Amino acid sequence: MTEVLSNLDYMALEEAHSSGVYAKRALTIVRGEGAYVWDAEGNRYIDCVGGQGAANIGHAHPKVVEAIRAQAGVLLSCPELFYNDQRALLLQKLTALAQMPRAYLCNSGAEAVEAALKFARFATGRTHIVATMRGFHGRTMGALSATWEPKYREPFAPLVPNYTHIPYNDLAAAETAITDQTAAVLVEVVQGEGGVRPAEGDYLRGVQALCRERGALFITDEVQTGFGRTGRLFAHQHYGLSPDLMPVAKSIAGGMPFGACLISERVGKLQPAIHGTTFGGNPLGCAAALAALDVMVEEDLAGRAAVLGGFLLERLGDLPQRFRAQVREVRGLGLLFGIELRGKVAPVLKALQSKGVLALPAGLNVLRLLPPLVIGQADLEQVASAIEAVLAEMGAAE
Ligand code: PMP
Repeated sequence: MTEVLSNLDYMALEEAHSSGVYAKRALTIVRGEGAYVWDAEGNRYIDCVGGQGAANIGHAHPKVVEAIRAQAGVLLSCPELFYNDQRALLLQKLTALAQMPRAYLCNSGAEAVEAALKFARFATGRTHIVATMRGFHGRTMGALSATWEPKYREPFAPLVPNYTHIPYNDLAAAETAITDQTAAVLVEVVQGEGGVRPAEGDYLRGVQALCRERGALFITDEVQTGFGRTGRLFAHQHYGLSPDLMPVAKSIAGGMPFGACLISERVGKLQPAIHGTTFGGNPLGCAAALAALDVMVEEDLAGRAAVLGGFLLERLGDLPQRFRAQVREVRGLGLLFGIELRGKVAPVLKALQSKGVLALPAGLNVLRLLPPLVIGQADLEQVASAIEAVLAEMGAAE
């Protein structure tokens, strides 16, 4: 048995021994089920953090738990020096769902993006990458070079050369930036970390067309938007796009660390030894991902996200009118939902937590909701009421 300590004891241990790179809230989460998590004192929260996007199918989904349990007793590690049953079946299922014939398997979003960038350079023989302002793609050096936020980048300069950041949703800027030197354009279909900002369909189609015309690859980073989050299995499907490379991660394996870079027919089969990682395609992650993908399809989680996202928009869409002094805009796609405030989001998150609702920021002034897609409408109603109550209290306090 592990020793059971209090919330404060666990916090003190982490504060004493963890790296320090994360700013944490005063809450120790010890258990999750569906759209709920519990702290070390047994208090329950409606979880609109959703593992920062890793819990689309809900916490501790019984099918994933069972798949992990079964595979753990059979084979945990098997590098891609060999073939493996779980990996073969996962590759078949994932590529069929994504309608892209191949995938490179890895362990996180940043790794999936890093792979896409390397593959784009390798496949085109070019080095320039075009990314967008407010874009977020991860923290490894290649992915960080594509990430826009100066506070993430500046301490680590010089980054990888030949990256350009263009304004999002500005096709004229893309027209100028994409040249015969461009290996790839990397975009999010909805910018998540950058403030929950959806792209316009015409913009994305235009960027894709420019890529095809100029021999650059079109990469949609679906690490946050993938696996049902926006109301389609992959967000690019809203706009009829066909990316050349597509990094995914977060919810792919029901919460287990796992990622993939889907590869189109246009890029084709890559050459041995140009990339790789020890844990990529490990049997445990593959078994979890197989089960998680089944759950997404069986429970039509993309359809649920579309309906529930519609409900939230209906329920909270008029916040800018009702709370004019505090709310600037409400926006999102499916259950990737954002409320742009006029002031800082941190106090709102804290007040929501005291009402039993966990939510995320996206930048300094956007409140972001990323609930598990299995969340019930009654719980979302409770989240909406808690947001209204917090805004009302804070408005009254001003
Ligand atoms: N791309 C996008 C769009 C993301 O939202 C994130 C994570 N928030 C990443 C990449 C990086 O993923 P990870 O944290 O798993 O490295």
